[in-house]
Amino acid sequence: MSGKKIAVIPGDGIGPEVIDAAVQVLKAVCSDLYFQNFEAGYECLKKNGYAITGDMTAEISKFDAVLFGANTTPPDLRNYKGYKSPILTLRRDLGLFANIRPVKSIFKNTGLDLLIFRENTEDLYVQREFMRGGEAVAEKIITEKSSRRIAELAYKQARANRRKKMTIVHKANVLKLTDGLFRNACRDVASGYPEITTEDRLVDSFCCQLVVDPGMFDCILTMNLYGDIISDLAAGIGDGLGFAPSCNLGDDIALFEPVHGSAPDLAGQNRANPIAAVLSAAMMLEYLELTEQARIIQSAVAGTLKKGFTRTFDMGGDGRTGDMTLEILKQIDIIVKENVIYGR
Ligand code: ATP
Repeated sequence: MSGKKIAVIPGDGIGPEVIDAAVQVLKAVCSDLYFQNFEAGYECLKKNGYAITGDMTAEISKFDAVLFGANTTPPDLRNYKGYKSPILTLRRDLGLFANIRPVKSIFKNTGLDLLIFRENTEDLYVQREFMRGGEAVAEKIITEKSSRRIAELAYKQARANRRKKMTIVHKANVLKLTDGLFRNACRDVASGYPEITTEDRLVDSFCCQLVVDPGMFDCILTMNLYGDIISDLAAGIGDGLGFAPSCNLGDDIALFEPVHGSAPDLAGQNRANPIAAVLSAAMMLEYLELTEQARIIQSAVAGTLKKGFTRTFDMGGDGRTGDMTLEILKQIDIIVKENVIYGR
């Protein structure tokens, strides 16, 4: 029995639809998880006048893990002075310093298999923007401490997963102080992991190589902004955003979310692919050391793709979010009853 407590933040757009699928799947493999829903995001802001509160993050910090859908950034930000992005607030207030984004091709089977480690607390995402005369200024903050912290975690996980190569991505030829500090700190940590080949690349040529020959890469270690962009790029050359899960890891708690955003163009239509959210839920179970249950979900997704009865529009079909969820639940049932594991 696990009795783990999960804070659920469905959020905006397709968030509630894909999180509903993920929660159904979690309930099917683990009967004693406790779920509590929290309202945060743009819809919450319109309704209640806030997108997230300090009390809410304090309450959420008492949970074992967080399952997060997506937030829409208010298009009319000027009307909401003091708006706080829920995901950036949670990453900061819960100390979620590492964003881990595995990108493995399980639908198109292209062989793509990357593990992206993104520093989650610094860089331009500190959101210190201001006007100075006629100049718009954004501060980019990089510290030795945070750079070493993400590098230590990345190398530890790479070693634990028997990964062979780490590529440090930066732009230190232009940003000598900030990106130079990050690269040097990562290089220093790398010296303690001689069995892992380390290289470093400039972000622009790295992106080109990633598209031309993704098989060249294994683990990627980078800063906040590049990591955000690179993981969408990697998802695009893989199976697409509908398949990409992620984890935001801290010392005491972790938050799991699909890499995709709220996709307002799909919201409320029951058309979004729930697999990214479902695989994020499986990552959450791994974190909670419910490894067998995580394996059942991953296998059920692999089985669903193998059978191919349901395809959402991003897979070239007209299947609904609900159809895909039912198919995954059916596969879970088969796995539990017959012990058929796919994708070994
Ligand atoms: P946001 O402003 O919240 O970031 P966005 O639409 O700019 O939203 P994403 O939500 O990441 O960014 O989506 C980009 C596009 O990718 C969407 O318009 C949609 O077509 C596609 N997409 C994203 N998630 C899914 C999904 N789960 N299933 C199918 N297509 C998706």
